[in-house]
Amino acid sequence: MPMPELPEVEALAAFLRENAVGKVVTRVDLAGIQSLKTFDPPLSSLAGLEVTGASRTGKFLDLDVSGIHLVVHLARAGWLHWRAELPTAPPKPGKGPLAVRVHLDDGAGFDLTEQGTRKGLAVYVVRSPSSEVPGIARLGPDALAVDAEAFAALMKGRKGQLKGALTDQTLVSGIGNAYSDEILHVAKLSPFKGADKLTDDEVLRLYDAVRTTLTDALERQVGQQAAKLKGEKRANLRVHARTGLPCPVCGDTVREVSFADTSLQYCPTCQTGGKPLADRRMSKLLR
Ligand SMILES: [Zn+2]
Repeated sequence: MPMPELPEVEALAAFLRENAVGKVVTRVDLAGIQSLKTFDPPLSSLAGLEVTGASRTGKFLDLDVSGIHLVVHLARAGWLHWRAELPTAPPKPGKGPLAVRVHLDDGAGFDLTEQGTRKGLAVYVVRSPSSEVPGIARLGPDALAVDAEAFAALMKGRKGQLKGALTDQTLVSGIGNAYSDEILHVAKLSPFKGADKLTDDEVLRLYDAVRTTLTDALERQVGQQAAKLKGEKRANLRVHARTGLPCPVCGDTVREVSFADTSLQYCPTCQTGGKPLADRRMSKLLR
């Protein structure tokens, strides 16, 4: 299941601007206690206030409820489910994927859910997201807002591999595991190439790939129903999560490198001069 990144979170924010702004929060149910990371102001302070805005910062979703912000990081397996009619009975805490349920004054609302056992979904209720949410305070410039010159300077000042550089939210924010694979494939660059080793031409190619990949995904996703976003994302991937399938550009077989709890996918012909990359997990097992 691909985790939500810049295009999906932006599309969710757009969806909430269409459907939640102007409505009043009547109640917020907390079913997954571990997802709430703040205590002041309390979750209950949102009740009775009007939703006045919805936006994205990095991969964080920010619902502005008359100056109190409900900030959500969906992590790997979190999602927002919009529901035209929410059940009114309070949910049972600790059972199933539901973490937080937000009721609006017309009976609609949304559930924040998380599948699986690794709980990473994080919800913050704050007055100032940029100073009170640590992950937002540390964010680097937005991947769609940074200009070519600043992007080149960030990459050239960074030691380590491109895959890690692109997904480091403190360097450039909004790109995760799936779109970094896609961007590197579009730019025809190896995920293992050193960020500070890029030529001027390569860094420009990478910058263009960031913009086209994220902009194309945004154009497909903004305006879609929340429920359709994940399928839309999956259907348009070139290499990510496509191990063993043909590269849509050259037909070579998409390969994978596995790490302890994640993996990356790439096309050898397009990205690494036809040479498969060493899979460190495999070589560790063989050592
Ligand atoms: Zn290829």
